[in-house]
Amino acid sequence: MKRVVKVGDLQIGGDSKVTVQSMTTTDTRDVKSTVSQIRRLEEAGCDIVRVAVLDHDACSAIFKIKKDINIPLVADIHFDYRLAIDSIKNGADKIRINPGNIGSVDRIKKIVEVAKQYKVPIRVGVNSGSLPKHIVEKYGVTTDAMVYSAIENAKILEDLDFGDIVVSLKASDVKKTIDAYTLMNEKTDYPLHVGVTEAGTKWIGTIKSSIGIGSLLAKGIGDTIRVSLTSDPVDEVRTGIEILKSLGIRKTGIKFISCPTCGRCKINLIEIAGKVQEKLQDINKDIVVAVMGCAVNGPGEAREADIGIAGGDNEALLFKKGNIIRKISEGNIVKELIEEIEKM
Ligand code: SF4
Repeated sequence: MKRVVKVGDLQIGGDSKVTVQSMTTTDTRDVKSTVSQIRRLEEAGCDIVRVAVLDHDACSAIFKIKKDINIPLVADIHFDYRLAIDSIKNGADKIRINPGNIGSVDRIKKIVEVAKQYKVPIRVGVNSGSLPKHIVEKYGVTTDAMVYSAIENAKILEDLDFGDIVVSLKASDVKKTIDAYTLMNEKTDYPLHVGVTEAGTKWIGTIKSSIGIGSLLAKGIGDTIRVSLTSDPVDEVRTGIEILKSLGIRKTGIKFISCPTCGRCKINLIEIAGKVQEKLQDINKDIVVAVMGCAVNGPGEAREADIGIAGGDNEALLFKKGNIIRKISEGNIVKELIEEIEKM
């Protein structure tokens, strides 16, 4: 069992729910844009948000941003220990640092003193691309190097009597990421922030993240997740939640099923399924929705779902709770299905 760390009103580790994180892409000093992006992330289901802190103006912005958001905020800091201290004093609920690039132990000690005072946890974020020289000389850029670097960094904090630590070990290589977290999980009880870094654009990044994060979660490893995509951060949250839903870790929200279509399908199911899925993103209900192409598997899936359609000849049968409700002509499928779902 992992140790439990408190982040604002949430907990990471122990038997707490696996949380979904994202990071804003706005300039943190632009309070209005940052708050508006965080609000969109909240609506998409984001549990924890991280912002980049590049200077003291960004620290002051945290104070203002916090007033207008409802989820815990993490300040992401590199190099300058004063920004970490200033972020905590301005209300950050957690900070992410890489102790290796903060400098002397004295500086880390100063951060730890304030983090203790404000009861703010620290994520030690190790990235395979920025491992310290002495570790690379000993282990190369390997899984062992990532794990030992994290343990070494965490030990700096532990030696200062600070234990509210979350660890991440990110590599853009999926296999290396899985191996590193698996080894870390065996060696320590730190809650793990899991993700594949620099995963790529929406398409490739979703695949890499789903394999990396999904494989680890399936083994019971991972306390909080972040999908990294070169895309709107809302896509990161949606992907993270789908990963959790696919594994049955998060049971709330709509579960969407659609068939791949084949020669039996007589409606434009690809377009219909795409439109339905798009519209479902704004609906918050705990139901299964099935969009099926024909009467072979269609009625079965549509019946087992809470609501669904099974395509016919330029039309579809609408099912609700196992019963046929009516026929819908092809052009009205999306509209009428969504209307029925909204009534549920
Ligand atoms: Fe083909 Fe029908 Fe199965 Fe869809 S439900 S893949 S259209 S057989």
